[in-house]
Amino acid sequence: MTTERRQLEVSGIPVEVVRKDIKNLHLAVYPPHGRVRVAVPLRTGDETVRLAVISRLGWIRRQQKVLEQQPRQSEREMVTGESHFVWGRRYRLDVIEQDAPASVVIRNSKTLQLRVRPGTGREKREQVLQRWYRRLLRDRIADLRAKWEPRIGVRVASYGIKRMKTKWGACNIEERRIWLNLELAKKPPACLEYILVHELVHLLERHHNDRFRAYMDDFLPSWRLHREELNRAPLAHEDWEY
Ligand SMILES: [Zn+2]
Repeated sequence: MTTERRQLEVSGIPVEVVRKDIKNLHLAVYPPHGRVRVAVPLRTGDETVRLAVISRLGWIRRQQKVLEQQPRQSEREMVTGESHFVWGRRYRLDVIEQDAPASVVIRNSKTLQLRVRPGTGREKREQVLQRWYRRLLRDRIADLRAKWEPRIGVRVASYGIKRMKTKWGACNIEERRIWLNLELAKKPPACLEYILVHELVHLLERHHNDRFRAYMDDFLPSWRLHREELNRAPLAHEDWEY
């Protein structure tokens, strides 16, 4: 697969342009400093990219401003006292070292207890917590697919969970496979539901067009609220037809 990268400057904003074998134009603003990256189909000219960026300048500046105002999420040390989010709620991490298999438990409404063997380093502690987040998501996805697949009238071959830098979810329409971002386990449950419904609706309508939005209004009338909530997070992206 050919991939071509170049830099453009649009209205004083440096833009990284990546041309590759994709169908849609994809614009993203990245933490921590609001770097702008546009991925476009191979034969898209610079002028099209320029126009697309200009038409989204307001949105880009808003995202960059949000990033600026966000307190820097410091690198997680995975030690007692840190804040960690589960389903939109903040918990204080409590690390307990003991000679037993690793585990994670929510202790009361405020404490996330991580039990690890003595001497377990930062990276391994983080892995234990990630695995736990993954299980939380998996269980919730099982409930959600039972609720939504019949309602929307689609069947999904498989759901995958992974860490993605620029997307909350993705849908491979041909393979009927849906990907969900592991980070969703840290957001309110309604956000996961919104992303899952959004990806399911892609099985009815590939593009983010009026028909797509009409389906969303029909199935999940509150979807714009959840989108807002997710857009307040540092992860920000938009896809659109050009
Ligand atoms: Zn979409």
